[in-house]
Amino acid sequence: MIEFRDVNKYYGEYHALRGISATIRAGEFFSLLGPSGCGKTTLLRTIAGFEDISSGAVLIDGRDATEIPANKRPTNMVFQSYAIFPHMSVAQNVAFGLRRDPGSKAEKAARVEEALAMVGLKGYGDRAAHALSGGQRQRVALARALILKPKVLLLDEPLSALDKKMREHMQVELIKLQRQVGITFILVTHDQEEALVMSDRIAVMFEGRIAQLADPETLYRRPATKDVANFIGVMNFLPAEVVTEAAGRIAVDVQGLGRTEIAADQAPGAVTGEPATVGFRPETLTILYDGQAAPERETPGSVEEVVYYGDMTYYDVRLDGVDKPVRISMRNTPGRPVLDIGTRTRVAWSPTALVLFR
Ligand code: ATP
Repeated sequence: MIEFRDVNKYYGEYHALRGISATIRAGEFFSLLGPSGCGKTTLLRTIAGFEDISSGAVLIDGRDATEIPANKRPTNMVFQSYAIFPHMSVAQNVAFGLRRDPGSKAEKAARVEEALAMVGLKGYGDRAAHALSGGQRQRVALARALILKPKVLLLDEPLSALDKKMREHMQVELIKLQRQVGITFILVTHDQEEALVMSDRIAVMFEGRIAQLADPETLYRRPATKDVANFIGVMNFLPAEVVTEAAGRIAVDVQGLGRTEIAADQAPGAVTGEPATVGFRPETLTILYDGQAAPERETPGSVEEVVYYGDMTYYDVRLDGVDKPVRISMRNTPGRPVLDIGTRTRVAWSPTALVLFR
């Protein structure tokens, strides 16, 4: 649906987009995720035609976007500040999208009703827009964009003005809406959780480049770089060294964990004899209770910090022979007391949960 071919964008001297190549498929929920200033909004705006590129190409449905004026593109944008007209009714706001449409008044009214029903605001047409909640306003903005039946809906941080509860609610609503209408959604967000929850695929961006483009599970389980691993969820890191690489199996010495073997797909860019870093997620470690056998490997350590969350407890455990503690998340179960600071423990881990970074 959308293709970026080596897209570069300069603002004066500043190189905001640095060789972006990616394809966004028709009908997918795609997110551009990254910290403030990484270029995600700029990239989104190149699709809408609000931003020229310095070199490369943006293709929309196979056509070079430069041939299509912004107002003729099969795209529509929903902004962070959703720009609802407070003095108009809900229906007038939604119908605003149709102002250049030649259809009859009755036809337009029917389309407004249809769009409002789509976003869960059936019967709200006569309400004054200023009398709506933040979540309802955002729905009006969505309805106004959807009424034009775009092939691609561009969403620039559309939920960031909402409080946490409403945001979570709207995330689910947006996923449902996307499935129902079947059009391509492209979301810009700096919220990793939001991207993981909503997207079919995510492009993680840093400093004008895509660091990794993958589905949420791959990004979480097999991040391609330390930056990606750090940006998405919590990752423990330990110093390591690659000992040998042979036939897709890689032997590494990991501080505290000793020598272990991992598969090639767990080690993007491993080079024998070079220092590296091993990463693993807090939930891939288990604190063993007395007498419990480790399914695979185990390492002794001491509890340094305990943070109780009700359903979960986060432990910082200093593994023997390791400079700094690792974070372990454990589900609390009846009959298993929360451990005290200072407790000696054994920590179970699995070589398959490790990721090795250069
Ligand atoms: P945020 O989440 O803060 O909006 P972003 O990832 O969307 O960040 P962009 O808005 O795409 O980032 O901006 C990328 C970089 O380009 C930033 O460093 C920004 O300061 C710069 N930039 C954006 N627009 C312009 C402009 N019109 N002129 C000059 N520099 C700009």
